[in-house]
Amino acid sequence: MYRTEQINRHLRNHGLVLFTEASNEQKNKITNNPQKVKFFMWLAVRQRIWTSDRRRHRGLTSDATCRLCDQEEETADHLLCTCSFTRQVWHTLLSVLGIQNSPSPAGLNFLEWWLLLRQVLSKEHKKGLDTAVMLVSWMIWKERNARVFNGTQQSLSQLVQGILEEGSNWIRAGASKLAGVGWPH
Ligand SMILES: [Zn+2]
Repeated sequence: MYRTEQINRHLRNHGLVLFTEASNEQKNKITNNPQKVKFFMWLAVRQRIWTSDRRRHRGLTSDATCRLCDQEEETADHLLCTCSFTRQVWHTLLSVLGIQNSPSPAGLNFLEWWLLLRQVLSKEHKKGLDTAVMLVSWMIWKERNARVFNGTQQSLSQLVQGILEEGSNWIRAGASKLAGVGWPH
């Protein structure tokens, strides 16, 4: 549905809010370097993060099952958008923010779901949501990596709590749009 130029334009215009919001000094105080998060998102919307489907394709693993739900194949779109675990994370966080979730992401890819969510929001709130999408996706990726590589795992509520706290750190570091969309801090 969305062509590469549209994805690029979207990321350029809307996806880099956190990065431009914070000063250099503030950025250094953030636990998760926004530049790293930005690059992760750039790869994620292009399906180029090293999810298990890609690792299996390269012969790096034989099991491509998603470690968050233990049910479906792990692709970038699955992990960040359609996975039942990820959807519960988003369901909880969007209720906190008072944003209506799209009823079913079935048939939508990650970027399409993201664009659908922000469609009804004001310009300022769109920027806040973009920051939230980056933060949540990054934290889900970190949880996924902890499960795959360290054999540790957080419960849904632990992860949601961790994401809320990290968002609050980002706000202290200058992510005012995230505060503006109602993120508790
Ligand atoms: Zn899953």
